[in-house]
Amino acid sequence: MSIKENWDKVLEKVRTAAEESGRTLEDITVIAVTKTRTADEINEVISSGATDIGENKPQEVRDKFHDVKDGVKWHLIGHLQTNKIKYIIDKVCLIHSVDSIHLMDEIDKQAKKHSLIMPILIQVNISGEETKQGVSRQELPQLLEHAGTLSNIRVEGLMTIMPKVENNITNSLHFDNIRQLFVDISCKKYDNVTMKHLSMGMSGDYEEAILHGATMVRVGTAIFGARDYSKT
Ligand SMILES: *Cc1c(COP(=O)(O)O)cnc(C)c1O
Repeated sequence: MSIKENWDKVLEKVRTAAEESGRTLEDITVIAVTKTRTADEINEVISSGATDIGENKPQEVRDKFHDVKDGVKWHLIGHLQTNKIKYIIDKVCLIHSVDSIHLMDEIDKQAKKHSLIMPILIQVNISGEETKQGVSRQELPQLLEHAGTLSNIRVEGLMTIMPKVENNITNSLHFDNIRQLFVDISCKKYDNVTMKHLSMGMSGDYEEAILHGATMVRVGTAIFGARDYSKT
C-alpha cells in the first residue's frame, strides 16, 4: 500500500467515526506523525492531502523543516526539554506535550523573544500509568491557573497518550474520563485557557478516540507502516 492509499483509508475511517459522533470530517484534525520518516515521505503525505504533521523530537523538526513543503502545520507531540524549545518555537503551530509549570514558563519566555503567542496543550496522564509523561488530574488545576499569569502562551486544550492494550481490551474508561475533564474545565473559565482541542488517539485507537470526543488524532504507523528506529 502506498502512503496515498493508506492516507485515504485513514481519512475514510476518520470520516465515519466523526459522523457516528455527530460531527463531520472537517471537525477532526488528522495529524500525520512523521517521526523517523524522511522529508520525501513527509512531502508524499502532504501531496496526498495532509495539512498537519507531528514530530515527537524537536531535533527532527529542526532537521527536516526546510526540506518539507511550505504551508503545512507542524505539531510537537513528544517530550520537550527546555533547552530544545529554541529549535521549534518559530516552526510549530501547537505544542501538545506540556506537563510542567517550568516548561510553560520557558516556552513563554522563548515565545516572547520571538514576539509570538504559542498555543499549547497540557498533557494529562489520565490512566495513572507510572511510565507515561503528563500531569495527574490532581496537578492539572495548578497548571491551568498558572496560564493566567503568562502572556505569550495560550492553553488550547488537553492531550493524552493511552496505555497500550492487548486482547481487545479498550481504553474506553480512560477516554471517558479525559472527555469529562475536558468538559469540566470548559465550564470553569480559567484565564488564558480555552478547551478547543482534545488530542488523543493513535494508529490503534483513533476511531475509538473520535467516538469519545477527540478533535485531533495523531496517526503514524497506519499511514507510513511500521517504524524502523535503526535508521535514526
Ligand atoms: C509516535 C506517536 C504517535 C503515533 O503513533 P502510531 O501508533 O504510529 O500511530 C502518536 N502520538 C505520539 C505522542 C507519538 O509519539
